Amino acid sequence: MANYSNTKISTFEQCRYKYDLKYNKGIKSYKNTIEAFMGSMVHETLEKLYTDLRYMKKLSLEELLGIYNQKWKENFTHEIIIAKKEYTADNYRLIGEDCIRKYYLRFDPFDQETIIGLETNDFLDLGDGNTYSVRIDKFSCKGNDYYVCDYKTESRMRTKDDADHDRQLSMYAKWVRETYPDAENIYVLWHMLRFDKDLVAERTDTEMDEIFENTKRSIKEIESCTEWPTNPGTLCDYCDYKGQCPEFTHLIEIENMTPEEISEDAGVGLVDLYTQADDLIDKNKEEIKKLEAEKENLKNEIVCFAEKKDITCVYGTDHKISIKRSQRITYEDKDRLESVLKEKGLYDDLSSISYPRLNSKIKKGDIDSDIKELAHIEDIETVSLSKIKTKKE
Ligand code: SF4
Repeated sequence: MANYSNTKISTFEQCRYKYDLKYNKGIKSYKNTIEAFMGSMVHETLEKLYTDLRYMKKLSLEELLGIYNQKWKENFTHEIIIAKKEYTADNYRLIGEDCIRKYYLRFDPFDQETIIGLETNDFLDLGDGNTYSVRIDKFSCKGNDYYVCDYKTESRMRTKDDADHDRQLSMYAKWVRETYPDAENIYVLWHMLRFDKDLVAERTDTEMDEIFENTKRSIKEIESCTEWPTNPGTLCDYCDYKGQCPEFTHLIEIENMTPEEISEDAGVGLVDLYTQADDLIDKNKEEIKKLEAEKENLKNEIVCFAEKKDITCVYGTDHKISIKRSQRITYEDKDRLESVLKEKGLYDDLSSISYPRLNSKIKKGDIDSDIKELAHIEDIETVSLSKIKTKKE
């Protein structure tokens, strides 16, 4: 039995290598991104606001911002990753302040709903031995209407469509449905704090059940996974495991070298030579094309020469060209061909094995062991050359 959270499943969907480090091998990352740090400082501050309200103590906006800034000062470290180099940590601190200010001014006196829970720590039973973490930032009700509220400090304004299809909100709503049978309506809501807007969606039982089943399927895929490759992409700059990722280890090593050390690094030298060879091939592609066309013309002329002389081999100074005649057969209507072969009872005899499909089944382990034994499996390396993105790109 295992417990899954939205972060855990999303990590698997984003990068299996990172999932393997974090969840299978239990390797901790002590790095944090500035976006995540700012988000957690804002979350903790709003939690404090509502905790105090439950004890009939209302903090002023100034007091609340003071708490936020104090938290920031106490927890900030220079280890925190700032991927956007043109901004400083203080820019992010001010964004967080702005989020809190907007939220406070819009919801003061905070009596819109009754708070049931803050940063809840519950579990939804998935019925197959696993559970799903239910951690709702602000869980509230108004009569028999229940509200699952999540704070978002991100810079992208999400859409209603995002809210309508979000897995985490659906799973939380399902938990509300099962835990509070008096719930007439369950609203799932994102407070988009930077934009001073809310995105609200409702969940029907059918929608909840559909996402519930999809989530169980995703978990099954995780549990049956045997390969954990890296998946480099735009989110790598925000990955707290970048320092332990084989996609970036060499780059990080080079970034910490002197220019002299870089010029002596064997890897740098080899990739530079490979790039030069690749450039040379690229530059000569047009020339190669012309030469290929010229060769084709010469071939045709040699064939004509041989035909005229009724010979099968033409001799040059120190090379000869042999001419073999054969027929090339192609089929324009392959569907028709397949049905005629079946009609005539010849299909089984003439159709061939689909090796790409067979190989994929062997890789997934989704095949009879007698067949797998017949396959010779060897590790091969392919390389691909691409430009390193500069910070501006
Ligand atoms: S840096 Fe990118 S490829 Fe490497 S573990 Fe993180 S997300 Fe995966």
